[in-house]
Amino acid sequence: MPIDGKFQLMTLPYQQLGEAVSQQTLSFHHGKHLKAYVDNLNKLYNGPAVSLQEIVRTADGGVFNNAGQVLNHTMYFEQLSNTPRSMSDAFAAKLAAQYGSVEAFRDEFLQKGASLFGSGWVWLSLDADGKLVITQNAGADNPVRHDLCPLLTIDVWEHAYYLDYQNRRADYLAAIWQCIDWPVVEARM
Ligand code: MN
Repeated sequence: MPIDGKFQLMTLPYQQLGEAVSQQTLSFHHGKHLKAYVDNLNKLYNGPAVSLQEIVRTADGGVFNNAGQVLNHTMYFEQLSNTPRSMSDAFAAKLAAQYGSVEAFRDEFLQKGASLFGSGWVWLSLDADGKLVITQNAGADNPVRHDLCPLLTIDVWEHAYYLDYQNRRADYLAAIWQCIDWPVVEARM
């Protein structure tokens, strides 16, 4: 939500994420990449003071690309923690009911992140019927543009991992999985 007509760079709620990504990656990812999206959005957007989600849902072109990346990164950084908490029994049961087990869900989610072609995001969302859905979204796309309620996302743009993992995207995905703070994910339902 813009404050005084300007979008703000979120404060990163941690200085490190265990061994999953280096401080250098975190610093570039938040302080350079996300900051550039915020700055670009402030230059490009001159519409009404609606929510960021509403802008992402309806905008096109540069406004969409930059607003989408601001929303996606905010959700990504907020749901990670250096002291991550477990998922609830109820959420584990919901995953197991649909995917067979939490481990089977994790494997499918991470596989879809690893196999996404080019730059983008892997998402877990809820559809209008309350069913869970995993999607691969290219570029700055967000499930809100497809009438889905986004719960969880992992950034698979190369800038999210290349300094630490080079081409080993699957290793980054497995490591960042350990940093998911599940109560934040569940609160999005
Ligand atoms: Mn990113």
